[in-house]
Amino acid sequence: MIIVLKPKSTKQDADEILQSISELGCKPLYMPGTERVVLGAIGDERVLGSLNLEGHPKVESVTPVLSPYKLVSREMHPHDTLVPIGPTVLVGGEKFTVIAGPCAVENEAQMLASGQAAKDAGATCLRGGAFKPRTSPHSFQGLGVQGLEILADVGRKLNMPTVTEVVDAADVETVASYADVLQVGARNMQNFRMLQELGRCSKPVILKRGMAASIQDFLLAAEYIVNEGNPNVILCERGIRTFETTMRNTLDLAAVPYIKLKTHLPVMVEPSHGTGIRDLVSPMSRAAAACGADGIMVEVHCNPAKAVSDGAQSLYPQQFSTLMKDLRIIVEAMGKSL
Ligand code: PEP
Ligand code: MN
Repeated sequence: MIIVLKPKSTKQDADEILQSISELGCKPLYMPGTERVVLGAIGDERVLGSLNLEGHPKVESVTPVLSPYKLVSREMHPHDTLVPIGPTVLVGGEKFTVIAGPCAVENEAQMLASGQAAKDAGATCLRGGAFKPRTSPHSFQGLGVQGLEILADVGRKLNMPTVTEVVDAADVETVASYADVLQVGARNMQNFRMLQELGRCSKPVILKRGMAASIQDFLLAAEYIVNEGNPNVILCERGIRTFETTMRNTLDLAAVPYIKLKTHLPVMVEPSHGTGIRDLVSPMSRAAAACGADGIMVEVHCNPAKAVSDGAQSLYPQQFSTLMKDLRIIVEAMGKSL
């Protein structure tokens, strides 16, 4: 529930109420604003009801948070959350963030050439998978820690923050020691133990939508991370499975403005897995910018024909460079900047 205190309430009044919420085994939140102090209480609303806060002399109003996800809901936190990536990038608000790079880290030369192409065209963050969650156990599974080392090294050389996937709760600490952002892949969106572990980690998280996840499932997965104390979650729409099988997935772009109404977290779009078809990646990236996404993540490879994974959906450097030029116009029309 959201508790708005009366204008002249003191910090001590707030602390007393927060203490009583905590004593009930519920989670207290302190959210001072410029005009009013707002408190939050997360837990069983019937238990919280026993505090009778409506009748408290310092309380102006008590409003239940109706959505099942509380911490990530706009009801609880009306302003956009900006998520910092490394020292220079801020995701959300007026910025449109572009993360680019190959599907998988293959070797140093491939990573450096792909990263250089991404940087030259204007991407601000570098992606590359070291632990690959492949549908088939016979497909390339990634270079593991060696891949993390290559990615971190190339990120340092190019001065770009890095994004890479973590596929197991036990790997969170290791991956966090190399990368600037930890990605949760579609296949792991409901790996709740891993989400909790990520909630206890100090690095930002990109949470990709599961291929069979409803928007509510998606936001509740984000709630798992924030509930453990990590507020830096970026949601990423990457397509869902529907009856339509022409494309690899059905990119649910309507989910972007809908999710932005419901949550304060930034929302990115990933059209590479969202379509699976190289020629569709640029049009859907442009559409993502036009529908209000806070950024895109795209697969770009220095030589897609030779890519060990997802070559068919990876952009050639030249295509990515053209996309960035087109995006600049759309992003500006949306009142944002690259
Ligand atoms: C990826 O980004 O490389 C990936 C495997 O994506 P997804 O989890 O969306 O399939
Ligand atoms: Mn891929």
